[in-house]
Amino acid sequence: MEITVSDLYDFKACPLRFKFMKIDKVCKEITSNDGVRESLQSVINYYYFYLKQGQQLPLSSLKEKFSSIWSGNLDLYDIYTGDKRNQRKKELEAIGMLNNFYMKQKYEPDLVIASNLDFRIPFGDNFFIKGNIPVIRETSAGIEIVVHKMGKHKYDEFWQKTDMGLTLMAMAYESMFKKEIDNIIVHSLHSGSVHYIHRKKEDYKRLTKTVRMVKESIEKKWLYPRETYACEKCPAKNLCMEWR
Ligand code: SF4
Repeated sequence: MEITVSDLYDFKACPLRFKFMKIDKVCKEITSNDGVRESLQSVINYYYFYLKQGQQLPLSSLKEKFSSIWSGNLDLYDIYTGDKRNQRKKELEAIGMLNNFYMKQKYEPDLVIASNLDFRIPFGDNFFIKGNIPVIRETSAGIEIVVHKMGKHKYDEFWQKTDMGLTLMAMAYESMFKKEIDNIIVHSLHSGSVHYIHRKKEDYKRLTKTVRMVKESIEKKWLYPRETYACEKCPAKNLCMEWR
């Protein structure tokens, strides 16, 4: 079996939603928050792709790219945006984050070693997690993985220590380059804060144990609803109400 990093987060957010969206595929829309994150990440990948070739794209190109993804011209994501007002609100939030991203890059663009680097990590027999490292850059402090967060929640010490995505990237880097990454830098595009994070082998244990439990739950079909306030924005809400 193979799942993506996003599947892992989806499963932990709500196993039943994971079933509807990833196993049964009866609901293909993603939430507006996920839509903003995926759309902005695509734009950031686009920026770094050109930067690695020696070309720094202007902010106007990034905004244009975002609009074509968000308004559906590129048909990349099926985003559940709710009404027009909410769609516009999310769009403005995203443009604000894009500005924050660009202001950090404008005068000191990253020295990119790799971008959008795919990985596939085995966990025991026949179970893999697929994902990608958005950017690896070189700085005077060493080689760094750079991650941009689009969520509004405070990226406090707890999240920094337990962020599964970062641990998977550190494991993938170590497996590919046969050494630990020097730093992981997390930019929160909402608040503008920057966090320097380290991962050691000790941190891999928690992740490995979590993945083993998720694997077992999927195999045993423990796909139960996890009702929270996030249900308000769940695209599978109607199906969920009928679940018995
Ligand atoms: S409405 Fe809530 S409990 Fe139901 S599937 Fe969606 S997230 Fe899960």
